[in-house]
Amino acid sequence: MNFLITAGPTREYLDSIRFLSNPSTGKMGYALAAAARQLGHQVVLISGPTNLPVPQNVKLIKVTTARQMLTSVKSFFNRADCLVMSAAVGDYRPAHQIKGKLRKSQRVMNLKLVRNPDIFQEVAPKKKHRVFLGFALEPYLDRQQALHKLSRKKLDYIVLNTPKSFGQDRTRVEVLNQQGLIKSFKNASKSVISRFLIKLVEKQFSISPEPILVHGRREH
Ligand code: C5P
Repeated sequence: MNFLITAGPTREYLDSIRFLSNPSTGKMGYALAAAARQLGHQVVLISGPTNLPVPQNVKLIKVTTARQMLTSVKSFFNRADCLVMSAAVGDYRPAHQIKGKLRKSQRVMNLKLVRNPDIFQEVAPKKKHRVFLGFALEPYLDRQQALHKLSRKKLDYIVLNTPKSFGQDRTRVEVLNQQGLIKSFKNASKSVISRFLIKLVEKQFSISPEPILVHGRREH
């Protein structure tokens, strides 16, 4: 299978120096990319800024902003059989980016933010046979929220976790599909969770409608 995996945080710049972001380190996405490779799949990893080593034989595309991530996802989407969005994508960006450095003058400053595009929702109309795996980061393990995201974003599976997971090698997660809870991991390594998730996707892909073969190549 061809996996398209996003990882890490995005950054949205206010000026040339400062940005809005989050504490994601990319560990989950990189573990997923490594697991998919180990299980014999092709992997394109679209990554926000991280300090992690790139798993062997994985094609890495570096991005900074949510909109760059969207552009890269769109450009590799046709070839993908599965989209895994483990990136912590910034939902908002500053309405204006100041060139150079923002100087301090007023005591109070208003920052106007605009919504970033939702990457899953942008590509969902072309989903077809593809398997979608997303993440829901919630203040607590809120299954209702996760299921709501799963249906809004047309996901096959969603991994529910909390901010405690940021930067950790081991974490607590719940994996859900439309019917509800499939599996919970109380304190598992991100590589064990990743292997489970990749195998889940393989199983789902084997029962999803076959892509049409044109001249021996997949047409989506
Ligand atoms: O809506 P929320 O950000 O909580 O949804 C989480 C899931 O959606 C994650 O899989 C995340 O990578 C993805 N996402 C996205 N586009 C965004 C924000 C999040 O695809 N702009």
